[in-house]
Amino acid sequence: MNSNDQRATIDVPSSSQGPENGRSRTATQDSSAATHVRGSGRTLPASLLTPPAPPPPPHLPDYKNIIGEGQVDALQFLARDLKGKTIKMVNSTSVGGGVAEMLNRMVPLLSELEVPTRWDVITGGNDFFEVTKAFHNALHGSSYELTKAAQDIFLMYNEQNRARMHFDEELIVIHDPQPLPLVHSRDKSPGHWVWRCHIDLSNPDAHVWEFLRPLVEQYDAAIFSSQSFARQLPIPQYLFYPCIDPLSEKNKELDDSQVQKVCDELGIDRSRPIVTQVSRFDRLKDPVGVVQAYKLAKKYVDCQLVLAGGGATDDPEGAVVLQEVKEAAGDDPDIVILDLPPWCGFEINAIQRASTLIVQKSIREGFGLTVTEALWKGKPTIAGAVGGIPNQIIHKLTGVLVHSVEGCAFQIRYLLTHPEFARRIGASGREHVKENFLITTNVKRWLLLYQILQSVKVQSGA
Ligand code: UDP
Repeated sequence: MNSNDQRATIDVPSSSQGPENGRSRTATQDSSAATHVRGSGRTLPASLLTPPAPPPPPHLPDYKNIIGEGQVDALQFLARDLKGKTIKMVNSTSVGGGVAEMLNRMVPLLSELEVPTRWDVITGGNDFFEVTKAFHNALHGSSYELTKAAQDIFLMYNEQNRARMHFDEELIVIHDPQPLPLVHSRDKSPGHWVWRCHIDLSNPDAHVWEFLRPLVEQYDAAIFSSQSFARQLPIPQYLFYPCIDPLSEKNKELDDSQVQKVCDELGIDRSRPIVTQVSRFDRLKDPVGVVQAYKLAKKYVDCQLVLAGGGATDDPEGAVVLQEVKEAAGDDPDIVILDLPPWCGFEINAIQRASTLIVQKSIREGFGLTVTEALWKGKPTIAGAVGGIPNQIIHKLTGVLVHSVEGCAFQIRYLLTHPEFARRIGASGREHVKENFLITTNVKRWLLLYQILQSVKVQSGA
């Protein structure tokens, strides 16, 4: 985590990916190089410490094998009337977290459909990201004392970004609260302004929400990841499920030798059951609760725990939480804590595929893309019944929902001792993702929304 870094602007051309995604760590890479400690209990192979060359990005026809030719044709059909129309996506981090993950693939796919799409990342100092992280937690329901100083920092950095950015595109999509005040530029911009909120707004801290709400109301529309996140607003609201890319390094099919190689490198023993949580080291993901649940389950059933995480550049708390997790884990040799750099999509893919069960014991959650990733791999998944997770996990059908450490421990024990049931929910989970949460479905939603916004403008004569 280097939270003092200033963030960069990214312009993702249609033929390439953003900086986060895209490792092509092949079996020929040298894994016997010296290992390095990255602030966690486990050492990482030297080969993971530098970003790999990005693999060639998948193209639209590559998705035919997964979603069928008809669906790809439908996307091309929907994009026909939007050819040449431009989109700008803006968020606050290029690496780490689900939003960057989605943008990384969404932007090139839209561009490939001849809807040129640009991705900009706002910049800010550590003080800005401390305030926005506190806002994030407050919007998720934590109590927070909103000070004038915090408001000033939030607005000041947004003004700085606004001064250097241009908003010439015809559709401007602002992701999450950090860049919300950029909407002050809408007077000078001809485009539609849409706020894409990825977080759970069902129970926000009232002061923070009242501070942000007037900004949200200046947009043409707001998009939420679950019905339950929507607020009373005077603007239209849409439901967009987030998505994963089945062809990314993180989700593509791997053969067993690739999975084995990553496990060997990271010291993960595949001969015994593996329970895994992949998440940023963030209290709302409850990694300490996962350690406690594992320890309870372990009294009855043999298993190991893998906690694979890392930091997002807009999250200054990660290092502290990682320390708390290490203390909770103590000296248990069956707990593997991995503090991974952000370019480890391929390794995360292998870890998820090597896992017997996947846990996402969040206390608050936006949508929970790690759940989507686990389900896509057909893994029996145990997750907190919060945020968008119940959209993904239909209890006992596509996974299991839990509400406590004890509930999580019970389900770990139950699923490890009922493999046929575990297999069945894993298989249903994969089908659920295929129907609803793949990137191609998301691209379709963006194209439809763009068409709707256009037609509203034409009807109103604007
Ligand atoms: N992730 C990652 N490296 C990590 C931890 C998480 O690449 O060390 C990825 C994870 O696989 C998922 C995304 O970051 O794709 C997290 O998205 P999610 O919606 O679960 O949570 P967020 O971090 O956005 O709150």
